[in-house]
Amino acid sequence: MVTISADDPRSIQAVELAAGASGWIKIRGKDGRPLAFGVPSRSTPGKFWLANTDRCQCPDFQFHPGPCAHVLAVRLRCELAKAEGAHRKRRSATTKSSDVSMKPERRSQNRTRLVSGDTRP
Ligand SMILES: [Zn+2]
Repeated sequence: MVTISADDPRSIQAVELAAGASGWIKIRGKDGRPLAFGVPSRSTPGKFWLANTDRCQCPDFQFHPGPCAHVLAVRLRCELAKAEGAHRKRRSATTKSSDVSMKPERRSQNRTRLVSGDTRP
């Protein structure tokens, strides 16, 4: 769960950073799941901080207690990605159920016959 407070400047920064999440550098693990993100530094243009949902490289995280704006932004982005993924899954499930009613077994049989006919000399 991500808590955003309008009184907390880090939260506001995090929302702004998360809005530009498409421009982040993604670091993926062997299974393809994102391990960390290169979140752009707000004070130094062109600089990226390596951050995930727990840690960040930036001085704010090193010297101040609690998650910095980058960590909060990564958490926000992960929550958004989860919500989008759930939405997409639901939609593809509906498409699948309509495919089943079209009797895919018959269709694949026809295709096999067609292909074998084409390859015959
Ligand atoms: Zn940070």
